[in-house]
This record gives sequence, structure tokens and C-alpha cells, in this order.
Amino acid sequence: MNTDVIIVGKGIAGLVLSFFLKKKGIRHLVLDRKNMAKHFALAETLPPSAMPLLQSLDLIKIFEKNAIQKTYGYHSMWGNTRIQNNNFFSQLSYKNGLKINKKAIIDDLEQLCNEDVMGYEKMLNMIISKDEVTIEVENNHQKEIINAKMIIDATGRNRAILKKLNIPIQLHDNLICFSCHLPRVKHPKLTYDIFVESFEDGWGIVSALDEETNILSVFTNKENLIQLRLKDYKGWQSVLSKTIVLKDFLAKQAEVKIVGSDANCSIANCLSGENWMAVGDAALSFDPLSSYGIANAIYTVKEALSVIESYILTGDRKGFAAYSKTLFSAFDSYYMVKNELYRAESRWMESSFWKGFFRLEDEENRIDNTHRQNGTRIILD
Ligand SMILES: Cc1cc2nc3c(=O)[nH]c(=O)nc-3n(C[C@H](O)[C@H](O)[C@H](O)COP(=O)(O)OP(=O)(O)OC[C@H]3O[C@@H](n4cnc5c(N)ncnc54)[C@H](O)[C@@H]3O)c2cc1C
Repeated sequence: MNTDVIIVGKGIAGLVLSFFLKKKGIRHLVLDRKNMAKHFALAETLPPSAMPLLQSLDLIKIFEKNAIQKTYGYHSMWGNTRIQNNNFFSQLSYKNGLKINKKAIIDDLEQLCNEDVMGYEKMLNMIISKDEVTIEVENNHQKEIINAKMIIDATGRNRAILKKLNIPIQLHDNLICFSCHLPRVKHPKLTYDIFVESFEDGWGIVSALDEETNILSVFTNKENLIQLRLKDYKGWQSVLSKTIVLKDFLAKQAEVKIVGSDANCSIANCLSGENWMAVGDAALSFDPLSSYGIANAIYTVKEALSVIESYILTGDRKGFAAYSKTLFSAFDSYYMVKNELYRAESRWMESSFWKGFFRLEDEENRIDNTHRQNGTRIILD
């Protein structure tokens, strides 16, 4: 089988890229591993600042159609014990964000890209040379070889292609997350159905999934011992006893499924090569505090699109290095803003979770001193 672009990964980044390549008439194939973990609804939100991007790319209809609801603000308790009302009325262009059903968006995008998506059970071989990519996959004990001019890593934090290319990943923190679905509780003090609260060992967010269900997520770092208690719902009561409002959302249930995941802020040392690129979380992944992961995935696709088009149609590789440079710069700006946000919580500066954010200045200076050449990022000691 011959094509021009192989996209590995069928998340938002991979499918949005497929959607645009199809519009441009560029031959491609999305490879989707069949035995991946089942989808767990997180009711992800997109802030109002992400709406112009969706609008400019003509994606807003798909997102609005599959929105659980429009969001007009959220409540938080961060830095002190006051419940803060963060409404979106003062936002410039859009006064609302979206709480989305990610699975429904992925299903819709897949429908639009159907003939370009291929499931596989096992990847047997992958050879990336300067001018050609060859992948061998297996399905029902049948082997299939796919040749292409280039390959895209859209496998999220798994970074399957970057791993094969031995590209190091810079982890900027060790944030992990545990989430569960609980019967919906409507809190008398909250009008919005999204609430964020910080506590000594991390922070948590509760958000309504539907009329009956809340999703509760607790974030801490890998070194923090509360993660052992968060793996089993029986431990959540004691962990959240340190919170003021979040604990009210716990239900008295014995059996609750807990899903754990990495939620760190990380970036690959190299985001593109001579005929490969990483998009979405595979390239750079953001701490979910920003709610900017999905907008970021779409932004990286937008940046990648003209580079791919130019390489496939004319063989021009100049865009690859420029792509890396743009993304490194976007990541660094975000990273500074995110750390400032964490430092706005100074009640537990000595706790194992929070103290890291107050000792970051050195690292931030180190990032300013990076050398970036031909899309490769080298950190100075
Ligand atoms: C707890 C939590 C809460 C979040 N909340 C929000 C939020 O409110 N708002 C927001 O904007 N973002 C949020 N995010 C982040 C957001 O979900 C991601 O940034 C976004 O989904 C990234 O999309 P992606 O397509 O790059 O990667 P993914 O969504 O991870 O998709 C990657 C795809 O690649 C597939 N894949 C993986 N390995 C392989 C392989 N070896 N071969 C083939 N396929 C493979 C996976 O099955 C998946 O389909 C949250 C993240 C977490 C962890």
C-alpha cells in the first residue's frame, strides 16, 4: 500500500489532521491501534480563548454539535478559602467556552475521514529513512506493508513514534491524575457546574458530565504518597478531607471505578525531522489546569498543515525546523504562565506538592538558555 502521509494515532490531533489533509486532497492513512484502552469520559472543557481557533478552522460546528454544554464560567478556591466566581463575560470575542463529549467529536471526525482510517493489531516493523517511511502491521495474522513519504506521531502522551526514533522527552513535572464518575451532587454555593480547589497535596476539579453524573479528578505528583490512597475509592474520603468544598461531592459508594493517567507538562526534545513530525500531546502536552490540551492539539495541526503540504507537493523541507521553533516558543510561554498560576497558591509552600513551583526560577532560566537548531532542542547544563 502506498500513500503520502502516515498519521499514527486517532485522537483529536490525528483526526483533525486527517480532516484537513482530505480537504487538501493529500493522500494519507490514519493508523489506529485496535486494542487501546477504553475511552473514559472526562468532560473536557475548552476556554473561550480557544473558540476563535475553532472558528477560523471551520471546526466550531463539529465541536458545538458535540458539546455537553456551553460554559459561561467556573468557580474556584485557589490561594485562599473564598469561592471565586470566574465568569467569562469579560472575555473579548467569545463569552462562552465548551464542555465537550470528546468521544462524540472523535466519532464524527472519523465518519468524515472514514476511508482514510485503518485499524491494526500489531506494528511489526517501522523504517524511517530520509525519503521514505515503511511500516509493517499485522491484522488477523495477515501482514501488510505501507509505504509513505512521511510519518506523523499523533499518539498523545504515548509518543509511540518518538520513542521508536529515540527522541528524549523533557518532563517538566510529575503530575498524575485520578478520575472517577460519581452521582451528581448540586452544591448550594455553586452556580456553575465546574469547580476547582487546591489543597495541600494537589488540586481537584469536579465537573458535571450529565444530569446524573459528576466527574471528579484529583491531581498530585508521582512522589506524593496520597496517590496510593487515590488508586482505590475507599481512600478518597481521607485524601479529600483536607478540602473545604470538594469533599462534599464524594458519594457513599463502595465500588467506584478509578482511572489514573499521566497529566504532566512535557515536550519532546525534537518535534520534527526530515520527514516526520509530532502533533498534539505527542509534541507538547500541557498540565490540564489550563484546559488548553485540545486547543493545543488543534493549534499544532494548524501549524503542521502547511509544512506537510509543502513537503508532499514540492519536496521543500524548510518548514520542519520552523515548525519546531514555533512550538518550542509556544510551550515556553505557556510554561511560564502555568507556573505563575501555581505560585498564586502560596498556603503550602513547603508541602511536597507545592514547593517545586517555588523553586522553579532556576529551571525557567535554563529553558531561556536553550539552543535550537534544525528543529533539535539541546538544553545547556
Ligand atoms: C485528566 C485530564 C483532563 C483533561 N482535561 C482537559 C480539558 O478539560 N480540556 C482540554 O482541552 N484538555 C484536557 N486534557 C488534555 C486533552 O485531553 C489532550 O491534550 C488531548 O486529548 C490531546 O489530543 P491528542 O490527539 O494529541 O492525544 P490523545 O487524545 O491522547 O490521542 C492519542 C491517540 O493515539 C492512540 N495511540 C496511542 N498509542 C498508539 C500507538 N502505539 N499506535 C496507534 N495509536 C496509538 C490513542 O489510542 C489515541 O487514540 C485533559 C487531560 C487529562 C489527562
